[in-house]
Amino acid sequence: MNLKEKEKEFILQTYKRLPVEVDHTDGVYVYGKDGKKYLDFFGGIAVNALGYNDTRVKAAIINQVNRYMHMSNIFYMDVQIELAELICKLSGYSKIFFTNSGTEAVEAAIKLSRRWGSKENKVKLFALTNSFHGRTMGALSLTDRPKYRHGYEPFLPSVDHITFNNVSELREKIDSKTAAVFIEFVQGEGGVNVVSKEFVEELFALRDKHKFLVVADEIQAGIYRTGRFFAFEHYGVHPDLITVAKPLGGSLPLGGLLVDSKYVDVLDYGAHGTTFGGNPVSCAAGLATLNDLSENNIGEHVTVVGGYLKQRLLEFQTKHPDFISEIRGMGLMIGAECKTDCGDFVNQLLSNGVLVNCTNGNVIRILPPLVIQQEHVDVFMSAFQKTFFDVHSATSKDFAGGLAN
Ligand code: PLP
Repeated sequence: MNLKEKEKEFILQTYKRLPVEVDHTDGVYVYGKDGKKYLDFFGGIAVNALGYNDTRVKAAIINQVNRYMHMSNIFYMDVQIELAELICKLSGYSKIFFTNSGTEAVEAAIKLSRRWGSKENKVKLFALTNSFHGRTMGALSLTDRPKYRHGYEPFLPSVDHITFNNVSELREKIDSKTAAVFIEFVQGEGGVNVVSKEFVEELFALRDKHKFLVVADEIQAGIYRTGRFFAFEHYGVHPDLITVAKPLGGSLPLGGLLVDSKYVDVLDYGAHGTTFGGNPVSCAAGLATLNDLSENNIGEHVTVVGGYLKQRLLEFQTKHPDFISEIRGMGLMIGAECKTDCGDFVNQLLSNGVLVNCTNGNVIRILPPLVIQQEHVDVFMSAFQKTFFDVHSATSKDFAGGLAN
C-alpha cells in the first residue's frame, strides 16, 4: 500500500488532503517526497508564524524536552508561567487559561461567560453569521457554517446568530439577558470578512448599556497576523475575553483564554481544567516564538509586506475583474473573492508551486508565515498570474508541479 492508500485505510476520511506527501520543510518552503518545492502561503492554517524550522524555536523545544515534557497542571511549570507573563504583557490583559486548541479556548470562554452571567440570569450567547469558532459542541453552537453543523443538532440552548455587519439586527437581538457576544474582527474560515467600524461601535455601546461580555476570537487573526497584536486593536476597542491559539504554541498545540482584570475571579479552583492544556513543550515553543516576533517588530513588517501583497493583488484584480470581484483583509490575512468557485484555481496554483486555500467556496485565502519577504510575494504573484492563464487556457493542464529549485 502506498501512503495515500494507507491513509484511506486507517484514518477516518474527514479531510480532503492536498496531493502532497511532505518530506521536509525549510523557511517558508515545503518539500514533497517527489522532490517538488512549494512556497507556503497558507502557513499550516495561520499557525507557522515564523515559517518552518526556526532555530530558536527548535532549540527551546529541545531544551524543554530534555527537562520535562509533561507534568500536569498541579505543578508550577516555569516555562508556562513565563509565557503567561509575556502574553499578558504584550496584550495588556491580566490572566490566561491555557488550552490545547482554539476550540477549547472558545469552550473556556463560553463557560466563563455562562458562569459570570448566571448570577443575573444572563444566559444568551451570540455569534455572527458566517462565523467559525471551532467544532466541539459548544464552539460549534456558535459556528455558523452549515457544512460543519449539519447533523449535529441539538446545539447549546440560548445561542443565536446576528447577521454579519447588520447593526439594526444587533440592536434588536441584544438585551439585558445577553451573557456574551463572540466576534471574529476578521472572519477567517468565513471568507476573510472584515467587520465594519459601525457594527463594532454599536456592539460596544450596547455592552455599556446591557452589561455583557464581548469575546474577541483572535485564534486566526491574532498575534500580529493583521499587523497589530490583535485584530480588534484596529478598532480601538477593549473586548472582555480573548481566545487565542494557532501561532501561540510556535507550531505545537496550544490555545488560551485571555481575561480582562474584571473577570479573573469568575473561574475559581475546580471551575475548569485540562490535562494537557499549557503543555510545557508547547509553552517553550510559544515563548520562543512570541519573543522572536515581538523583539523583531513583526507587526510593522506584516503591515509593510502585507500592504505590498495586497497592492499587487489589487493591480491583478483591476486587470481581471471578471475573475476576482474583491480583495480584502488586513496585514497578512488576505482574501481574494472570485466570481466563481476557486477550487480549480487553488489546485492549479499548487501545481505551480504555491500553497494557499479556498474557503467559503470562492475565496482564495492567503495566510503566509509572518516572516515572508517582498521577494516571496513576487514569486507568489508570478505563480498566481501563471495559474490564471493556465486555468483560462485549456492548453497547459499537465504542468509537472512545484517550483524550480
Ligand atoms: N476560531 C477561529 C477564528 C478559527 O479560525 C479556528 C480554527 O481555524 C478555531 C476557532 C478553532 O481552532 P482549533 O482548530 O485550534 O480548534
